[in-house]
Amino acid sequence: MRQRPGDWNSLALSADQILASAEAAEHDGASTVLPGVHAGYSTGTSGARGVFLSTKAERARYLGQCLAKLLPGSPLRRRRIGLCLRADNALYRDVSNAGPFEFRFFSLASPARKRASEIESFAPEIFVAPSHVLAELALFSNNGEFTAPPLERLFYGAEPMGAAERAWITEALGVRPDPIYQATEGFLGTACERGVLHLNEDSFVFEFEPIAGSDRNRLIVTDLRRTSQPIVRVRLDDIVQPKDAPCPCGLALQAIEPVEGRYTDIWRWGEARIFPRQVERAVADVLAPAEHWRAIGSPDGIRFACDAPRADQARITIARLLAEAGVTLPVTLRPYLPDGFPKRRRVQWSNA
Ligand SMILES: [Zn+2]
Repeated sequence: MRQRPGDWNSLALSADQILASAEAAEHDGASTVLPGVHAGYSTGTSGARGVFLSTKAERARYLGQCLAKLLPGSPLRRRRIGLCLRADNALYRDVSNAGPFEFRFFSLASPARKRASEIESFAPEIFVAPSHVLAELALFSNNGEFTAPPLERLFYGAEPMGAAERAWITEALGVRPDPIYQATEGFLGTACERGVLHLNEDSFVFEFEPIAGSDRNRLIVTDLRRTSQPIVRVRLDDIVQPKDAPCPCGLALQAIEPVEGRYTDIWRWGEARIFPRQVERAVADVLAPAEHWRAIGSPDGIRFACDAPRADQARITIARLLAEAGVTLPVTLRPYLPDGFPKRRRVQWSNA
């Protein structure tokens, strides 16, 4: 489905047509592939970019879902909405025309300080951004370089956020960042007013595929409404953990823990498994939330990249995690280099 988009759409579009249009959308936003039909790239789940198609009706429905689920109170109130993403797309530009909204797109490609000052002057009331952008803003705010906007709601997506980081950003920006679960496959989940992530079961069927030896799952998703690019029993790479108890907010939609990372990034040696959230928590016990780090598991051990003053204590904490899992492999400390791709992935697995 992902590799041959020409074979998997109901509009008789060839892969070349779709890809040319998605490519154009990256540069000047002219992404119409048929009247009303747009193509675009999403960041993708495995480094490779996914391509998506949307008809006018699908975009309208998507937008309606977003506004209904993300805006507190009446969706018809005048509001400033900011969105920070890798690339702009018709899907998001439609927001400006959907109601009394002032909508602004902030590119991930901008330098962090420039972006922060643009966000400050726009002063959004609703803001959506990847975790690492919110962490930057929190840091700037703590340094007195950024005045947090008058946010009603703040959302993070595209990258996991640990509990400690979430608490730190809440304090720095004065509002709690809540998760949005959005993928190439669609708008999969939204946080309720309590900040708990609920699956959008009003539009999708979600099947839980257990991950052996754990209480985690992978999702198999079917979109009940999308037709241009049918999403039928597509297995996702995310690690998902359903909550046992119903959410106190009263929503009947299945509540889940925030997505902790990717299935392919689980550390694994024989039967032993260490999950991204375990690593995140262990490191968060030692390092301040603003510190940069990355831990890459491999068959030969762990490469822990970090320049923080307490990096070695964090390294020892990871070694303890391995020992508890019965794994005797080295954890080596490396200098931290920024990610080479647009998504922050703190916990990774590499077979090399
Ligand atoms: Zn809830």
